[in-house]
Amino acid sequence: MANVSTIEGIRVSADHWIGGARVPSADMFLDVSPIDREMLAMVARGGEREVDEAVAAARSAFETWGSTPPERRAAVLHRIGELIESRVGELAIVETTDNGSLLRSMQRSVMPRVALNFHFFADRLLELGGEDLDTRGHRNHVTWDPAGVAAVITPWNAPLMLATWRVAPALAAGDTVVLKPPEWAPLTASMLCDIAREAGLPDGVLNVVQGIGEEAGAALVRHPGVDRVAFTGSVETGRSVAAAAGANLTPVSLELGGKSPFLIFADADLEAAVAQAVNQYDNAGQVCLAGTRLLVERGIYDRFLERFLERARALRQGDPRREDTDLGPLITQEHFDRVDGFVQRAKAEGARALIGGGPNEELGGWYYRPTLFVDAPPGSEILTREVFGPVLTLQAFEDEDEAIRMANATDYGLAAIVYTGDRERAERVSARLVAGTVWVNCFYVRDLRAPFGGSRNSGVGREGGTWSFDFYADVKNVCTAPWERS
Ligand code: NAD
Repeated sequence: MANVSTIEGIRVSADHWIGGARVPSADMFLDVSPIDREMLAMVARGGEREVDEAVAAARSAFETWGSTPPERRAAVLHRIGELIESRVGELAIVETTDNGSLLRSMQRSVMPRVALNFHFFADRLLELGGEDLDTRGHRNHVTWDPAGVAAVITPWNAPLMLATWRVAPALAAGDTVVLKPPEWAPLTASMLCDIAREAGLPDGVLNVVQGIGEEAGAALVRHPGVDRVAFTGSVETGRSVAAAAGANLTPVSLELGGKSPFLIFADADLEAAVAQAVNQYDNAGQVCLAGTRLLVERGIYDRFLERFLERARALRQGDPRREDTDLGPLITQEHFDRVDGFVQRAKAEGARALIGGGPNEELGGWYYRPTLFVDAPPGSEILTREVFGPVLTLQAFEDEDEAIRMANATDYGLAAIVYTGDRERAERVSARLVAGTVWVNCFYVRDLRAPFGGSRNSGVGREGGTWSFDFYADVKNVCTAPWERS
């Protein structure tokens, strides 16, 4: 019998989606809302068998989808984008209920970006090509051939946006997909299947196996029938995913964690920098890109701190469905305990929490107070490991060299933020920062044509624009001798 949950009046299937059909499971896991810890669904718990079935369905569908003309593939992707646009409200409320993100962000930026993922890669597909290279009369002609079955594994902090950021280019490239959504926020992936079918995506081209990471996820990444593994998640899991895929020599694209520095120089627009720094508590800090290490030039440190505390104390924490809420809950008890563990160990190591430093007792549940640490010992855990909660650190630097040394002093390299009023300094500093993306006097401005990914332990590979097709396609060069000689 079909397993359907109703969330805010919206019916959502909690089954797998394999070969164009809902597949129930006798084995299930509980999905609760972080807002009030109420049960949302009992979700199908897949394993080896469902992964086998989904990969087989994807392989079979690849026979036709891989040879479908790009114009036709692009048209279906645009239709998916349009249907998402027409359902932003439904997708937003289900995702907010499932993962606790702010409803207003879901409605205004995240779900529109989900639709854009499809529109963008549909358009980009039709622009692929480039000039043929002439080598002493020989013609080098590049083609972007579909690669096969792509496995996509995603985390819970922005589940549908991160899933479609991988699914859309894979489908555009002519691959078929098996998606394993995050067990802590699995529901919008299920809605995507309904949308894809309605848009005319053939059965088996997109499959969803719900389940636990160590079960369904691990079975998927080691499956020999998978041709690409696109993983977004933590560094620790990324290592095991890469090892499993490596056994089959399956190419992997890893988008992993971060501990990004936020450098603020004395010549910066202080109010803009403070506002952006406080903004790093967005999504209760459950953002891979967040600039969690605030590095401030000594001369403005006191003024910055005063203004920061003023603004941070004014943040309103509460139900993320309310328009006036700035900060919602953490995703689960397990994650709440993890964040609190970092905070308590930081205190034990000598760091001082100027605000926060514990749960929000008034709200109860998994609401954690926005926290700012100072005096953290150099090299300590709170300065070097990703917390993935509303926890920032503040340190002073004397000059540019010291700022860069401090900024680069972790194993991560996802992003960096620089606030300065000096254009030459911005260029000098950006060039020396180890990061996949550097934002100067801004944050989170994304152009999908630009490369995205992490350096060091924050990832392997880049996606976005042509970089995505480099990964999801089998790029081939056909070198042809001049015809007049043969
Ligand atoms: P996670 O690594 O625990 O889980 C991510 C996904 O992997 C989930 O779907 C999970 O079920 C699955 N998984 C777990 N174990 C697996 C295994 N052995 N084999 C295959 N799949 C497995 O990460 P999380 O806690 O869900 O997400 C938070 C992390 O994701 C943070 O580190 C964050 O920085 C990172 N993240 C990175 C980006 C980026 O673009 N770089 C974006 C968002 C989140």
